[in-house]
Amino acid sequence: MSIATKSDGETVGNLSLIAAHSHITGLGLDDHLQPRENSQGMVGQLKARKAAGVILKMIQQGKIAGRAILIAGPPSTGKTAIAMGISQSLGSDVPFTAIAGSEVFSKELSKTEALNQAFRKSIGIQIKEETEVIEGEVVEIQIDRSLTGGHKQGKLTIRTTDMETIYELGNKMIDELTKEKVIAGDVISIDKANGKIAKLGRSYTRARDYDAMGPDTKFVACPEGELQTRKEVVHTVSLHEIDVINSRQQGFLALFSGDTGEIRSEVRDQINMKVAEWKEEGKADIIPGVLFIDEVHMLDIECFSYINRALEDDFSPIVIMATNRGISKTRGTNYKSPHGLPLDLLDRSIIIRTEGYKEDEIKSILSIRAQEEEVELNADALSLLTKIGMETSLRYAANLIAVSHQIAKKRRTDTVALDDVKRSYTLFIDSARSVQFVEENSSQYID
Ligand code: ATP
Repeated sequence: MSIATKSDGETVGNLSLIAAHSHITGLGLDDHLQPRENSQGMVGQLKARKAAGVILKMIQQGKIAGRAILIAGPPSTGKTAIAMGISQSLGSDVPFTAIAGSEVFSKELSKTEALNQAFRKSIGIQIKEETEVIEGEVVEIQIDRSLTGGHKQGKLTIRTTDMETIYELGNKMIDELTKEKVIAGDVISIDKANGKIAKLGRSYTRARDYDAMGPDTKFVACPEGELQTRKEVVHTVSLHEIDVINSRQQGFLALFSGDTGEIRSEVRDQINMKVAEWKEEGKADIIPGVLFIDEVHMLDIECFSYINRALEDDFSPIVIMATNRGISKTRGTNYKSPHGLPLDLLDRSIIIRTEGYKEDEIKSILSIRAQEEEVELNADALSLLTKIGMETSLRYAANLIAVSHQIAKKRRTDTVALDDVKRSYTLFIDSARSVQFVEENSSQYID
């Protein structure tokens, strides 16, 4: 299953998948990295969580470069949940990108380009800037048309200290003057002495998040008057965002349309050099984030070679892969190997194993999911769902929570009872019953 980036996902499909793990807020470890039985939405799977805790520490200490982590185990045993737990523990400043192996096969991009983009989305560049910010009595803005003719200038009357008003009025003015919107991190320079806009600054590094227009938008005064203070402003962007903005005519808008296309390697080389320069000059920090590749067995040998190489790059993120396959063929070859991964990549990987759940663990997870979905289950309903979870899969049982809730609502009650679960179990079949049905009725299906 695939989950989206921390910045709220890119497609509706991904968003719904995030919801499946919305109850997870960390790995549920204590200060000594020991897993608590039930904490931060995580239940059981103690060994795997403990191992994930060690990995987390290594990531935090920057000691994991050049390696990958493989989470291997049967379906619905929390592999994605553990990856989410690691991501949550790292905090929102550390980029986290999630893809499913099969996503790299598309018509628009070559598979290695798709992987390359996923890798670069997972590298954060923190850019530091010193700037002067108006902090005192500020702003009502009036457009003085006599000043605007081609000079990008307007008249500024200072009246308020409320930043919201500044953004609003500032945007209005900039819009009027330049037909451009102010976006997060943009800097306009206002000459307090004569009320003119002296400069409109914009750099690609600031075009991070159109929707975030607001508290990050800085209005900068000219260097005189008591309203000025110097402040360090930090923007974090991903390498991929810098790539896109520098490679397409439409600039940062490509980030929102998702139409990024292939990015030329010369562009990336130049950006790598620039970023290395910024780092050298103390203007930027590189934050290796996490790239999570679910269903990694869906990748083929060329993708695996790419990952092997990319792990050695200076700009490599931490790669966490997950698979539910045993010994299987590596796609693109005739060889079988553990989890369908080539041996050289396996050799580089730290492997975490997840195991099937015990009954009380399934019960706790289902109970947490019900709470998360704001569904009340009575004791019998929870017991039956648990039994279903044991006999089919945790995911199927969790899916029945919402369905049973709908059925309960039809009875004009909000509490799910035994019969509601029974009805949802008969209405919606699990994969084993589906397979059985198809086999028994094979003549009715097209081969
Ligand atoms: P697959 O191999 O099918 O992709 P998976 O191992 O990645 O499965 P998840 O998607 O992580 O399984 O788990 C299924 C559901 O159960 C998710 O909603 C997940 O958040 C939840 N879940 C799994 N394990 C745990 C756990 N230990 N604690 C809390 N929730 C869990």
